[in-house]
Amino acid sequence: MNQLTNFRRTKIIFTLGPATESEEMLEKLILAGVDVARLNMAHAKHDWTREVIRRIRAVSKKVGREIAIMMDIKGPEIRTGDVDAPIELKVGEIFDFTVKPGGDASRENGEEIRSVNVNYKDLVNDIHVGDTVLVDNGLIRLEVLEKDNAHIRCRVLIPGELKSKRHINLPGVKVNLPSFTEKDRGDTQVGIEEGIDFVALSFVREAKDIEMLREYLRANNSKAKIIAKIEDQTAISNLDEIIRATDSLMVARGDLGIECPYEDLPVIQRRAVKSCFDHGKPVIIATHMLESMIKEPMPTRAEITDVANAVYEKADCVMLSGETTIGKYPLECVAILDKIARRIEEEGPFDFAEPEHVTGDKLKLLQSGVLLAHQISDSGIITFTRQGYMAAGLAALRPAIAPIFAMTNSVATLRQLRILRGVEPYMLSLDSEPNDTIENAIALLVKAGRVRTGDKLIVATDLLSHDRLVDSVQLRTVR
Ligand code: PGA
Ligand code: MN
Repeated sequence: MNQLTNFRRTKIIFTLGPATESEEMLEKLILAGVDVARLNMAHAKHDWTREVIRRIRAVSKKVGREIAIMMDIKGPEIRTGDVDAPIELKVGEIFDFTVKPGGDASRENGEEIRSVNVNYKDLVNDIHVGDTVLVDNGLIRLEVLEKDNAHIRCRVLIPGELKSKRHINLPGVKVNLPSFTEKDRGDTQVGIEEGIDFVALSFVREAKDIEMLREYLRANNSKAKIIAKIEDQTAISNLDEIIRATDSLMVARGDLGIECPYEDLPVIQRRAVKSCFDHGKPVIIATHMLESMIKEPMPTRAEITDVANAVYEKADCVMLSGETTIGKYPLECVAILDKIARRIEEEGPFDFAEPEHVTGDKLKLLQSGVLLAHQISDSGIITFTRQGYMAAGLAALRPAIAPIFAMTNSVATLRQLRILRGVEPYMLSLDSEPNDTIENAIALLVKAGRVRTGDKLIVATDLLSHDRLVDSVQLRTVR
């Protein structure tokens, strides 16, 4: 592998939190090669959000490497209300979830039945006797025994301590809550004002959810791209229409692994990655990739293999959550993802896969460029892209070895290109004569140390020439 093909194709997303929000840490992370910073709005206040977005932009500018910012809005989330003191739920205990506060404490066989309020009014309508209720990220399990219009009555199957405002999962229940909530609207507004690059929508259940957000972004003149987080069984049933409607997909394994039988999770992941590949949409693998590194300096063998699996699957991005929000070793996590990704990418597989979405002439042309890159060892691909479509098209074709050098004149586009597998974005003026633009791009890559005299570059582009777009694939040698 020469210097041209010695690069990381898989992109790294980290979630910002107390462990990583300082200017000093941001600088280290950006230099370490993170591609996207994620803001988890479930935990973020608006003042903080504005402040850290501006900080990321300032540090990016300072170190000369623009990363993307993803705002992750929490969507329809079910939570328990407040409890005065933690409730120690015992096996077999009868316990109520109430949707109408107040009322006398219930009794059964003379025993008082304890209860907690839930923020989901339609719970009693949407859930059925025999369904499962999971509390606190699946740790506590209950079974629904009966219901009326004020509460559901459950039996504790797996015990645990119930604290205030715990997350509830209802596997298999079609939850009737709005997908884009009031809170999401407020959060997104702040994000739009601060110029975020991506909005990740949690608990997407159907294409309509994405269309609603898209409409909102359009009405507010935002060019942010949408990431659909698939987190429950409804999303899996509607996977195809969701992938079609969204700009990119996140396999949100945290909730998905609770909402679906856990043994289905690897099957779902593989299917989701494959479907995104076939539709030419970027895909992110998220949650628990290096979970043990929240506390420990080294990953488990299983985690190493999980990360490797995502790279073998050719996912666009891997994501860190708790590892970088509250973890003790955020920088080490990034270094470890980088190392595993590079090592696994060396292994291939180097077959030339053909996604189903390659139908139009333009994509077929790009495909011939990728094919050429595949046949000329240690070559790279250059493209020119204002909105990012050419680069996205090339990335979707998954060149086996060649880097995709994407030249753009827009910093917003450059940031959005960060999530694409194998794409290295650069800023370049696209106003010159087409041939000059190509020469300028090559000069820039030489200056950046990415290509050397004698290197082969495939130019796949639709550069403007005298007000006309001219599609072409060319082979050039660096002089
Ligand atoms: P979250 O989403 O971290 O916002 O819950 C990711 C997941 O569920 O995996
Ligand atoms: Mn989630």
